[in-house]
Amino acid sequence: MHSSIYARALPRKDQQRLHQLTEKLLCTKSYEGASGFTVSAAIRARIALHACIPVLNLGLDYYADWASIVIYPGDFRVYDESMDEFGVVHREMLDLCGQSLSQGPIVLSWETIQEERKTLGDHDLVIHECAHKLDLLNGAANGFPPLHTGMNRRAWARDFHQAYRQFCTGLDSRGSHRLDAYAAENPAEFFAVLSETFFTAPHLVHEDFPAVYVHLQDFFRQDPDRIMRRIKS
Ligand SMILES: [Zn+2]
Repeated sequence: MHSSIYARALPRKDQQRLHQLTEKLLCTKSYEGASGFTVSAAIRARIALHACIPVLNLGLDYYADWASIVIYPGDFRVYDESMDEFGVVHREMLDLCGQSLSQGPIVLSWETIQEERKTLGDHDLVIHECAHKLDLLNGAANGFPPLHTGMNRRAWARDFHQAYRQFCTGLDSRGSHRLDAYAAENPAEFFAVLSETFFTAPHLVHEDFPAVYVHLQDFFRQDPDRIMRRIKS
């Protein structure tokens, strides 16, 4: 049932805790198919398992703000209204593969999740959307989730800001990057993409943004790079 390399690499006792947490998340959230999609038990289990990875050492209270996960067979269309810095309102239709708003469910495209399964790359839509939910716990999505006591807020802001600028500049000059280019969209997406990569290809975050890796390690209370290196050696 494990479809996450990281989950498989965890020590046995952590795997057991992850399973217990997954069972609990399966009972406490509703999983709804949209556009006629049927959500099987296996699909529910896979999504719940991935959703539990970021909160393995935080607990399900971090997900207390939302009640359901909506799954579309593929990309879904949303109507978006946003105001730019000049006060001009822009209205557009967007095709999305995932969405987490401050109020409401996590919305996912099953097609995207299945593609990730085939490629075993560094994408994890469920973790990405869960990272947005964690970011939203203390207000707007801005790449700044509620930090634990003892964590340095100023150092977090400084290092994420620096890494984000470095990432955007790198994109400009070389036209490509080792991390998903979508991270350049805004600081909230940068945090979500880095969180996703932290659990799928942690060496990329560790090598490219070592200071940010340490902050994510402190926030999630996990060290995926160390765990993944063990299975490689
Ligand atoms: Zn996102």
